[in-house]
Amino acid sequence: MKLLKGGRVVDPANGRDGAFDVLIDQGRIARIGRDLPVESGVTVIEIPAGLIVTPGLIDMHVHLREPGQEHKETVATGAAAAVAGGFTAVACMPNTTPVNDNAGVTEYILKKAAEANLARVYPIGAVSRGQKGEELADIADLRESGCVAVTDDGRPVATALLMRRALEYTQMFGMPVIEHCEEQTLKGDGVAHEGFAASTLGLRGIPGEAESIMALRDISLAELTEGRVHIAHMSARQTLDAVRYGKHRGARVTCEVTPHHFVLTDDRLGAPVAYDTNTKMNPPLREAKDRDAMLQGIADGSVDVIATDHAPHHYDEKHVEFDRAPFGITGLETAVSLCFDRLIHSGLISIGRLIELLTVNPSRILNVPGGSLTEGAPADITILAPDLAVTISVKTMTSKSKNTPFDGWQLRGGVAATLVGGRTVYLNPAIQDLRI
Ligand SMILES: [Zn+2]
Repeated sequence: MKLLKGGRVVDPANGRDGAFDVLIDQGRIARIGRDLPVESGVTVIEIPAGLIVTPGLIDMHVHLREPGQEHKETVATGAAAAVAGGFTAVACMPNTTPVNDNAGVTEYILKKAAEANLARVYPIGAVSRGQKGEELADIADLRESGCVAVTDDGRPVATALLMRRALEYTQMFGMPVIEHCEEQTLKGDGVAHEGFAASTLGLRGIPGEAESIMALRDISLAELTEGRVHIAHMSARQTLDAVRYGKHRGARVTCEVTPHHFVLTDDRLGAPVAYDTNTKMNPPLREAKDRDAMLQGIADGSVDVIATDHAPHHYDEKHVEFDRAPFGITGLETAVSLCFDRLIHSGLISIGRLIELLTVNPSRILNVPGGSLTEGAPADITILAPDLAVTISVKTMTSKSKNTPFDGWQLRGGVAATLVGGRTVYLNPAIQDLRI
């Protein structure tokens, strides 16, 4: 048995924020309370002042690339990057090779995750066979084999009719359909946000409306079917308005924002390095008005989740001309520091609200364990260091890929340790007085 003693516990799902001790026994939270007695056979772990004990963070949008693109990432390296970033669980997208549209692929991913034995991995299945947008995948089979949601991420569900069917079908299981909102004809062959920066640099643009039009379609269909739609990686202010409109009407819609969309804007396309392919992602970095809208949505409760859209790509794939580079950046190992630096230390939101965005809400949306430190629950715990001085460095990252625009950034706040099922799976070497 282990007793975490003296930490500030932030557990909004149970209404806790204060000095509590957490007793862990056989991988579960046995007790939580103030000044718990030290019984025999208990190892006491003193939590140094200033650190925060929270439910394990859950990233509901990552690309682990296995099977098929193991040169970018594997389930094992992705799970290692997750725990290094403070995430005890991740949900992985189906756009692998082959696509995760059947039980065989889902079971393969779960087997690799069990072998890695680090973060919990929740596969997300495809909406359509081969993500081709033609016919529904066998969603019942996917669910049975362990998928927690469906999506055709990388692209939107191709037609309104197929989306309607997916929402009707998943509703029977209480599963959400996660949507990559992008009206394909408006996106065209765009590579950046349609705005001043793209026109200055001669890059083809993608307007915010490419996202919001698809979000409006899907929110309308969620109303029609009473199914649940979750809008992935929202980037445009118009999309946030669409989500607010849907919530106001009672549609079952939730949404997520990535750290890069609430931190960066499209002026990064031109400076400090012009045409840096680590500023190329889909949806694209948008303008200051959009970035500010995302921050506003995080503050006022309209945004439900922060997810990374961790999208590893190999050095050789990214080191080509901007037009030819694949979309996406890594995110698992930078998210916590960006959240603390930009959301907490700026005074925008409380730590309790951050924990809702990073664990309570994703666990509810995906209907997976976690999100709270409840007695009897698995001891998935993240220990955060809100004042740790962090310099982001690709040299110390665990992910197999290094495609991040944040290399060299100095931020305040980071991860001290990550526990999955009561076992320490990550301990930050920069935290010297924590022995766990
Ligand atoms: Zn996507």
